[in-house]
Amino acid sequence: MAQQAQFDLVIIGSGPGGYVAAVRAAQLGLKTAVVEKASRLGGVCLNVGCIPSKALLDSSEYYHLARDRFAEHGIKTGKVTLDLPAMLARKDKVVEELTENVRRLLEGNKIETFHGTATVKAPGTVEVETGKKRSTTLSARNILLATGSEPIEVKGLEFDGKHIVSSTEALSFDAVPKRLGIVGGGYIGLELGSVWNRLGSMVTVIEMLPRIAATLDGQVGRALDRILKKQGLAFKLNTRVVEANVSRGKVKAVLENDGKTEKMTFDRLLVSIGRRPLTRDLGVEALKIKTDPKTGQILVDEAYRTSLDGVYAIGDLVPGPMLAHKASAEGIAAVECIAGRAGEVNYDTIPSVVYTWPEVASVGLTEEQVRERKIPYCVGSFPFSGAGRARCMGETDGFVKLISHGKTDRILGVHIIGPRAADMIAECVLALEFGASSEDIARTIHGHPTFSEALQEAAMNVRNCSIYAS
Ligand code: FAD
Repeated sequence: MAQQAQFDLVIIGSGPGGYVAAVRAAQLGLKTAVVEKASRLGGVCLNVGCIPSKALLDSSEYYHLARDRFAEHGIKTGKVTLDLPAMLARKDKVVEELTENVRRLLEGNKIETFHGTATVKAPGTVEVETGKKRSTTLSARNILLATGSEPIEVKGLEFDGKHIVSSTEALSFDAVPKRLGIVGGGYIGLELGSVWNRLGSMVTVIEMLPRIAATLDGQVGRALDRILKKQGLAFKLNTRVVEANVSRGKVKAVLENDGKTEKMTFDRLLVSIGRRPLTRDLGVEALKIKTDPKTGQILVDEAYRTSLDGVYAIGDLVPGPMLAHKASAEGIAAVECIAGRAGEVNYDTIPSVVYTWPEVASVGLTEEQVRERKIPYCVGSFPFSGAGRARCMGETDGFVKLISHGKTDRILGVHIIGPRAADMIAECVLALEFGASSEDIARTIHGHPTFSEALQEAAMNVRNCSIYAS
């Protein structure tokens, strides 16, 4: 066993929670180490999550535009063909560059990195298994757990890595599957379904609930359903896949809806019904660190302290939406608390985005939540078809919906489905952070012609003052 090293903080996991926390800790003067079991830094987000999926979404959208939409802009291309290996290689290069950036970032901040599987042996002691029968023990005044999550496996639909797969393999299919089945109509299923649909797959999304993307505002969810169907995705709602078997390279699936069964055959079946916290190897059980018995998430207080002294946890490991920016915000807040500062995260203003095209982005309460809480409210909405810029681009699907308090006009939630919604939502997050009213946005001058004019018009529409709404 290697000699002990002494640290103020040892962080286990180098995803957007762990590496961001490490940089903030170094800025605050803490001697910090990061332990990562994978060969590359950056966690799920950089390696098999946010980044590779967005690289493929962008590339496949370009392919679709070149093939199906350039002509209407007066651009003749000849026959557009797909070079899938080149598209995948580009995605891998983007990932490689960004993970290398994380390595440099840690090095530049004098953060020590250890590669190996970490286990918390006792408060203040982390053992890192660096190879066969080789380990290093790190001693730390504080330990931050940031080991993220892994895909949930369903009984009867176990991953085989080739035909019945998780999102990780669906980012690297070596050929476009003719028929792709997707179990789960959440954002990961819809994004990867969009990628392969654009590249030529017949995509069927099978969802147990009566709607796709169930956490979205209902009106926005229905619009997304309609638009994706128009693009060629098929949805089987209120339906479960009860069994799937691989035979002669095909997946034979049995679907059940209201007691009736149906058989479907796919070339690949992506199972993306959610993710669970990855606590394996950490020593959570042995140390009796408290977890949620239902979800397995590690329970923390407002300063991200677990039930064990000196041990903190953040990111996908702890309750809340499993999102990279939430993990990073918690990483910063946790480290600030460890350093004796006031760190906190405002969970009411975390944006969420679905990177289909058009994109869907939202922040705050949905109309259903507002109604459930019996809050008096007003709604203003505006379609992108009324925004000049959207017309120029030929992207008129979707709308902005703004919900404000019926008495105070304070903004409660904003839900956007439309071009560049992912970037437009930032203004709405800021508005919620500052406790802005719909009138504040209505009176804010937005550049012309921009997509964000649709937000201003929606805000004006709350008081029926929209200039362009009919
Ligand atoms: P992770 O990123 O999971 O990192 C944890 C790290 O800990 C991993 O590198 C792991 O190897 C390491 N580790 C685990 N156990 C140990 C151990 N015992 N010892 C040492 N190291 C260990 N979120 C968004 O916000 N936007 C998106 O667009 C988005 N797209 C996604 C697309 C897909 C396909 C997927 C799967 C996820 C996506 N997410 C997205 C979710 C996002 O990736 C996660 O919320 C985020 O990565 C969580 O960060 P984290 O730091 O908590 O953990």
